[in-house]
Amino acid sequence: MISRGTQPITEDDQTIAAMLEVAEVPTLLASLAYVTGDLSLLREELKQDPTKLAEPDAGFDPERSAAIRAIALQALIRYRDGGCQPVPPPDDDTLHTIMEFAVGSEVPLSHRPLLEEELSVTGDDMRAPDWSKDDIDPERPFLVAIIGAGMSGLLAAHRLQQAGVPYLIIEKNGDVGGTWLQNTYPGCRVDITNHVYSYSFAQRTDWPFHFSTQDVLLDYFRDCADRFGLRENIRFGTEVLSCDWDEASSTWNLHVRDASGEFIVKANAMISAVGQLNRPQKPDIDGLDDFAGPAFHSAEWRHDVDLTGKRVAVIGNGASAVQFVPVIARSAAEVTIFQRTPNWLFPVPNYMEPVAPGLTWLFNHIPSYAQWHRFWLFWKGTEGVLPACRVDPGWPSTEHSTGVLNEELRNLLTMYLQYEFMDHPELAAQAIPQYPPASKRIVLDNGTWTGTLKQDHVHLVSTGIAEVTPTGVRSADGVLHEVDVIIYATGFQASQFLTPMRVTGRDGVELHDQWSGDARAYLGVMVPNFPNFFMLYGPNTNIVVNGSIIYFSECEVNLMIGCIKLLLQDSLQSLDCRKDVHDAYNEWIDAGNLQMAWGVATVNTWYQSKSGRVAQNWPYGLLEFWEQTRAPKADDYVLV
Ligand code: NAP
Repeated sequence: MISRGTQPITEDDQTIAAMLEVAEVPTLLASLAYVTGDLSLLREELKQDPTKLAEPDAGFDPERSAAIRAIALQALIRYRDGGCQPVPPPDDDTLHTIMEFAVGSEVPLSHRPLLEEELSVTGDDMRAPDWSKDDIDPERPFLVAIIGAGMSGLLAAHRLQQAGVPYLIIEKNGDVGGTWLQNTYPGCRVDITNHVYSYSFAQRTDWPFHFSTQDVLLDYFRDCADRFGLRENIRFGTEVLSCDWDEASSTWNLHVRDASGEFIVKANAMISAVGQLNRPQKPDIDGLDDFAGPAFHSAEWRHDVDLTGKRVAVIGNGASAVQFVPVIARSAAEVTIFQRTPNWLFPVPNYMEPVAPGLTWLFNHIPSYAQWHRFWLFWKGTEGVLPACRVDPGWPSTEHSTGVLNEELRNLLTMYLQYEFMDHPELAAQAIPQYPPASKRIVLDNGTWTGTLKQDHVHLVSTGIAEVTPTGVRSADGVLHEVDVIIYATGFQASQFLTPMRVTGRDGVELHDQWSGDARAYLGVMVPNFPNFFMLYGPNTNIVVNGSIIYFSECEVNLMIGCIKLLLQDSLQSLDCRKDVHDAYNEWIDAGNLQMAWGVATVNTWYQSKSGRVAQNWPYGLLEFWEQTRAPKADDYVLV
């Protein structure tokens, strides 16, 4: 399933032309210049306009797209007729020229190493550890315990395996996949394009969708676990209850439970890869337990409850509801959505579209095209619409927008909602948010959600909920909405990092007590007093509008692997983050978040913890996180 590499072109001119009709044009010429060495393909008038990266079709109008396709066709015919022989990789300057053409702007030299790593045009695993335990300290017994076999746990295991460091994954579920195993609600899919939401070292050129469905992603992670030989080191059906640091032996004792009972796993280092959005948050509403019919959370979908012909109440309208409501509305008799806060919707026309077979053909037949395409997507996300989420100094009020670009984004998103609800003013009034965009998560839509709200048997109630009764949900205006089933689409306990585990570090300090409700970490990975303990998707590593969480996990794992190398090569027992370094870092993070829409928001958002502090989000660009996680700086740690 994981694929890279290309096949020779044997098709005739007409067939190639037909395939090119569905090509993603922005990086077509860049990849052909790379493969053929013909830099004359990089015509100035056909390069990406950097100001139009976020527009539909990246601002390439039909004429320019046609011109690119025509030039590409001739180049591909020459390539085919020449025996499909790519030229040797270009020198650094030429590669830089091609990169700048692909993104349409200057690429600072400081970005080069990261971009080359991301592009990985040769298909090499650029982030694989360049060391092995066997070379450093083959005799030392050293076990790393990883908690969780989802996306980040598998990634950590793969890197440890590459470095020859023994590890054990402890997984409460019966299979790998984490969030993609647990969330099985109808319509579940990723909302970052798959060419980016996938490991850099396990790319596929045959994704069936641009934004794949849950089953496809689960298969991908299962396939990675098999392909990289990780399963034999996973203990399934085993839950970690608590973990204690033992100073005398410099080991972690993990208290775990499986079907046979409770026991202890001892490890020299411990990695939490438990995910951030996996503990369902049920709403706190009067009478919830009195409801007589089935009631369940979106992440605990009751597939045994047939919704056909039923009256269904959905509480919440976030990312999960927006995906499953359109599906259940196809067969339910009535769907009543209880909305507390409307969402800004970002229109993405190909959100649910399959990848055209012609595009897959091109990915498989033009060497490096898939890599250049991913590179271009990555570049788009490096800053993404981050500048439009910033708070402009002196902006008069942050009630509706936070700056000039945020206001522009607001206008753009408002236009979409006004257009969609042109003939439904009552929906427009309820669905257009008042708060600034990016204060809370922006939800993708291709017209499916707005179209669903317009259906006669779908009702949007935004007056608030007074109580749940045995027969339905009473809204704050006193109306009882009688229903057969209630679905809670009310999200997760995002601020409760690592709950319900208890993690006790140096001097008996418990992690949650130390946090006192506000989770913090150094680089999202390490916390003072908790030596040899590393978190993935920890505090302040969530990205809002730029990049993929897999990129962040790859950076975090890189740092963690570097720390383990330090422990081994210097024969150290423990590595503990310095408190002053941790505190200064968190001040920098807090200051960054206060300059972002989500930091000054007064609207409900899981981005803020109860105190109002943003414990989830990374406020800066992708390059900064990569630079800081490239390798550990020994001075940042207390090393024993
Ligand atoms: P969510 O975005 O947190 O949405 C929860 C919804 O429930 C909100 O509408 C919230 O209203 C409402 N709510 C919560 N408590 C309530 C109460 N007591 N009464 C009434 N309404 C209540 O949760 P989610 O949709 O499960 O998504 C969570 C996160 O998971 C997303 O932000 C995203 O990061 C991730 N996710 C990703 C994907 C994807 O990639 N495809 C899909 C699903 C989820 P308020 O807005 O007023 O708080």
